[in-house]
Amino acid sequence: MKFVFLGTGTSGGVPQIGCSCEVCESTDRADTRTRCSLWIIDGPTSVIIDTGPDFRSQCLQNSISHISAIFYTHFHADHVFGVDDIRAYTCLQDQKIPIYLPDFMEERFRACFGYTITEQSPGLTRPKFLLNTIQDQTIRLDNLSFEPAEISHGSERVKGYVFSNGSVRVAYLIDCKSIPEETMEKLKGVDILILSALWKTEKTHPAHLNLTQAIELSRRIGPRTATYLSHISHQMGVHVETQQNLPENILLAHDGLEIDLG
Ligand SMILES: [Zn+2]
Ligand SMILES: [Zn+2]
Ligand SMILES: [Zn+2]
Repeated sequence: MKFVFLGTGTSGGVPQIGCSCEVCESTDRADTRTRCSLWIIDGPTSVIIDTGPDFRSQCLQNSISHISAIFYTHFHADHVFGVDDIRAYTCLQDQKIPIYLPDFMEERFRACFGYTITEQSPGLTRPKFLLNTIQDQTIRLDNLSFEPAEISHGSERVKGYVFSNGSVRVAYLIDCKSIPEETMEKLKGVDILILSALWKTEKTHPAHLNLTQAIELSRRIGPRTATYLSHISHQMGVHVETQQNLPENILLAHDGLEIDLG
């Protein structure tokens, strides 16, 4: 199993439009962050978590030729608005793509993208989905399992996922403000934690963890191997400098970062 960070930026991406700060003007590729998405590959199984507005360019950049299924975390534009570009895979694979939505986002998904789940006239090239709603049940896809793990994103609910190939467990908790105790239980013994961290300053945000809060939460969860931080804004500082001052085994993710778990 391996996974690839397709995007590691907050909702506006980095560089932020119209900004000329040190991060937005950096020429280091690690300081260019598209909207958050993760690609998980295990043999022929290819799974995406979230399809934001940069989904199309991420697929091209990473030569993604096949998608087995897509999981969603919540209905915010930066996680969902690449839906229409999944049409390429519907056509390539000549099949409906299974998607897994938390039940609390189904109504908004149907209102916005209802055309992807209704019967279509022959010859049209719209995305076609097999819609599955999830609450707390673990979903199995070939050798992989995906266990929903609910987190709080201010006033919004978000499903994180603990995915595993049976030997390594990885938690993907993005757009996180706090974690309920019930989810903390599910995180016991995870090997790798992927957690959102918005910015370096001590300023708090109503819906996101700042860096200090993310480090503290990572310590409480205590992943066996490492924590990767994602959903990062330009206010995190320049990648190499911020990384130098982080505790051991806490790493800033960047677009294109691939973690091969063998
Ligand atoms: Zn987001
Ligand atoms: Zn900036
Ligand atoms: Zn969000």
